[in-house]
Amino acid sequence: MAVSPTLTLNDGHTIPQLGFGVWQVPLDVTEQVVGTAIAAGYRAIDTAAAYDNETGVGAAIAGCDVPRDQLFITTKLWNAEHGYDRTLRAFDASLEKLGLEYIDLYLIHWPKPRQNLYVETWKALVELRRQGRARSIGVSNFTIPYLEHIMDASGVAPAVNQIELHPQFQQHAMREFHRRHNIATQAWSPLGQGRLLKNASIATLAKKHGKSPAQIILRWHLDSGLIAIPKSVTPERIRENFAVFDFHLDADDMNAIAALDRTSGRIGPDPDTADF
Ligand code: NAD
Repeated sequence: MAVSPTLTLNDGHTIPQLGFGVWQVPLDVTEQVVGTAIAAGYRAIDTAAAYDNETGVGAAIAGCDVPRDQLFITTKLWNAEHGYDRTLRAFDASLEKLGLEYIDLYLIHWPKPRQNLYVETWKALVELRRQGRARSIGVSNFTIPYLEHIMDASGVAPAVNQIELHPQFQQHAMREFHRRHNIATQAWSPLGQGRLLKNASIATLAKKHGKSPAQIILRWHLDSGLIAIPKSVTPERIRENFAVFDFHLDADDMNAIAALDRTSGRIGPDPDTADF
């Protein structure tokens, strides 16, 4: 069976470069969908308290025949739970819903700068890592000033920053900052929520390589040193998105995709102003 390549994080743990995201996967099908993904070879699952499907992810983990130490489970702290004590309690609730003794990667979902509690929230994640119940800790949707604040206050750099990133929003400034601080870049909405799949340049590359547009985009993420977590509920697409380890993009291909970057390419909320 195909196996995802891994990256080594700044804390020494490894993470599969290609994982499976479950945002908007309804709870009543989550166990089945995640089971399909694990059977297809995915070992990393990305959920969040806010996705309301942690129990389904947990059921799939409990029901699969892959040992726990070969899975990499990520969940995220929701905005309403910022603050030191609330974070510790919310972590316990996620652990219980997932039915796990530890989380591989725990993320602060959004910085919520106007709430201004993300520094003490980060300190709670540092404590969870010290306890060993969160093996790795990171953030999501943090921009450079927020990353600097938490690193200055704690002396601990996040292992991962999970940000919106796809060919039309390539986030070069964030990636450069991450590289300098040894923070891994994880791409959310790696397929641009499906909107990039009809792009003409991507279609040309798909034809050239005999691959699907989704496979071309996921290969671009891997060849760019990123971690990608595509989502699908369709079994054929779940398998298709994992069948990307038998080819590479060449320099011309990479240049063609580099040209798709747009400053206005963001699909999701701006972390500075996100209000939910
Ligand atoms: P995505 O870019 O993974 O696109 C998913 C959509 O693309 C699917 O719903 C489907 O419509 C289409 N698709 C997928 N595979 C396809 C294929 N092979 N052929 C044709 N169409 C295909 O978008 P996403 O779900 O927004 O992002 C992926 C994951 O990232 C989420 O599930 C979640 O885990 C994570 N995420 C995190 C945040 C955050 O704030 N941290 C925000 C959004 C998403």
